[in-house]
Parts: sequence; structure tokens; C-alpha cells
Amino acid sequence: MFRAIVVTRPSDAPASATLETDVTDAALGEGDVEIDVEYSSINYKDGMALTGRPGVIKAESLIAGIDLVGVVRATGERVIVNGFGLGENHPGGLSERARVKSEWLVPLPDGLSARRAAAIGTAGFTAMLSVLALEKSLSPAVGGEVLVTGASGGVGSIAIALLAKLGYSLTASTGRAAQHDYLRSLGATTVIDRAELDEPGRPMQSQRWAGAVDSVGSHTLANVLAQAHYGATVTACGLAQGADLPATVMPFILRGVSLVGINSVYCPLPLRTEAWRRLTRDLDLDLLDSLTTSVGLEGAIGAAHAIMDGSVRGRTVVDMQN
Ligand code: NDP
Repeated sequence: MFRAIVVTRPSDAPASATLETDVTDAALGEGDVEIDVEYSSINYKDGMALTGRPGVIKAESLIAGIDLVGVVRATGERVIVNGFGLGENHPGGLSERARVKSEWLVPLPDGLSARRAAAIGTAGFTAMLSVLALEKSLSPAVGGEVLVTGASGGVGSIAIALLAKLGYSLTASTGRAAQHDYLRSLGATTVIDRAELDEPGRPMQSQRWAGAVDSVGSHTLANVLAQAHYGATVTACGLAQGADLPATVMPFILRGVSLVGINSVYCPLPLRTEAWRRLTRDLDLDLLDSLTTSVGLEGAIGAAHAIMDGSVRGRTVVDMQN
């Protein structure tokens, strides 16, 4: 028997999450690899799942957790798993044990500890995918300001740390005045109030951004597109403000702006491996430590409520030994 966070969705009551201490192998999914999980993390999706919101867990009862880092029982190899439905339709990583498919495994890169890999997690992996997309059309040498929205969150914090180390000039957009110093410590040169971006705006506005990493969606993304330079790339991975996009085609047809969607779940293995290689090379691991907090499995549900309240800064690791 082992411990895991299990989400149940009865047909006649709201979904709820509980820490169960007597979970058996029967709750693990199909797969050819057994893993002793060392770390998981709390992402926005985990926040949704553990607070009973619909749209993430697609089963009546499922072990939650979209990230895991652990040791393969048969070989002793340390591996990272995220995506492919982990914690959505396949039992997840908020558990001392997991069973997954071998094709989902990414070997833990040399030079990266298991805890730091979990601190990066899906949010940091998605930040790296966003940076890789941006790099295709914008190099730091070209200059111009890159905007990161949802800046104090997991995707935003790691995107800022990565882009700053790569030499981009960065503006962070946040709703939290208390986090301005934190965002500067990660490498943002300018910090703006997200209120500048989150209301309905004109379809075309003054050109401000040579590129942007957006995890917020809705009016924020629409305004970012309207303020993008000629030829700019804007990446979209999230919906913290909303899943709508109240924009026009004008930035695309008048300024050649590119909007690139980022999906971490079904990211193909070669890109997945490249993203983890680049994270290991380009992320300042001391900065990563400074934006990470740890909880035990007992603290995971509380941390999930905190991420939905918007009170979490950076990343939260779940340490199974804690
Ligand atoms: P976090 O909760 O850590 O960060 C989200 C941030 O968005 C908050 O910290 C806040 O930043 C900002 N925010 C929250 N509410 C609003 C609002 N109403 N209006 C404007 N800004 C808001 O989440 P993550 O960073 O883990 O994830 C961010 C988004 O990216 C989520 O929607 C998530 O589902 C998505 N995502 C998508 C992935 C993919 O594969 N496409 C993978 C990973 C995440 P601040 O306080 O600084 O304003």
C-alpha cells in the first residue's frame, strides 16, 4: 500500500481530492514501467484538478498529478514524466508509486537533480517550449523588448529566468505589486501592472513588443497581439485570465505578427528531449531554487488551492519523503 492524492468525481456531487494512505497497485494505470516517485509539483492544471474544477481529470476516480520524477524500479534509472495524459486520464504523479509507458520516459539529464527537475516541471518545460518557439524568429542581438505575462506564476517566472540568461531585454506583466522586486531578481528589466493589458483594447495599438510569452489568454493576449512589432512572434500556452481571445486579424495581416500555440502534453519526444537539454544548459539553477518552495504530499491540496487563489509565486515541488 502507498500514499497518493486521489480525485473522485461522483455523478451526484462535486469532485473532491483526498490524500489516501492505503492505495494499492490496482489504482495504477496500464504501462510497462514501475516507478518509485520522488517528486511531483503543483501546476495550474493540478490546481484545477485538486480543487474539484472540471476539465482536467477525465475519470470517476484517478490519482492526480501531471508531473513526476522518480526511479525506475527495474533499472534504478532516474526519469522525468509529464504529459501524455498523466494525471488527466492516466493515474498521475502525486503518488509514491506510478506505472507508465516506457515511451513517455525522459532520462533525468546529467547535471540536473531530481528535485530541480520537478521544480521545472510542466510549467518550466512549457516555458522552455515557448522560448524555443520565440528563438525561431528573434535573437537577443536583434534587440527589442520581450513581454512575459502571468509573470509571477510558474510558466512566467521560468520564462523570465530563461530569457534573461539568454540576453533578451524583458518586461514582466504582473497583478502583484509585491512581486516587482522578485521579478527583477529573475531578470526582468521593466515590470508593468497587468491592468495595462487585461481590459478590452483597440485592435491596433502602438508597437511595443518584439516578442511575447503569454500564459494568460483573453483580453491580455488580444492586447499583446495589438501591441506586437512588425514580424513579432507571440506564444500562447495558457488561460489564467480566460480561454477566450477577443482579438481581430489586423495584427496578423497588417504587421505579419505570428501567434504560436504551445502544447506540452503531446510534445513529440525529440522536441521534449531538446527542451530538457536546453533547460539544463540555460536555466540558472540557483535562480530556480530561489523561485521554488517545497511541500509534502500532505501539503499538496493546500498548495493547489493557493495556486487557484493566485497567491503562489514561482513553483511548488511536492517531495514524497517530506
Ligand atoms: P500559475 O498559477 O503559476 O501562474 C499564472 C499567473 O497568471 C498568475 O501567477 C498570475 O500572475 C496570472 N494571472 C492569474 N489570474 C489572472 C487574471 N485573471 N488575469 C491576468 N493574469 C492572471 O500557473 P502556471 O504558470 O503553472 O500556468 C499558467 C497557464 O499556463 C495556465 O493557464 C496553465 O493551464 C497553462 N499551461 C499550459 C500548458 C500547455 O501545455 N499549454 C502547460 C503548463 C501550463 P501575476 O500574479 O504575476 O499577475
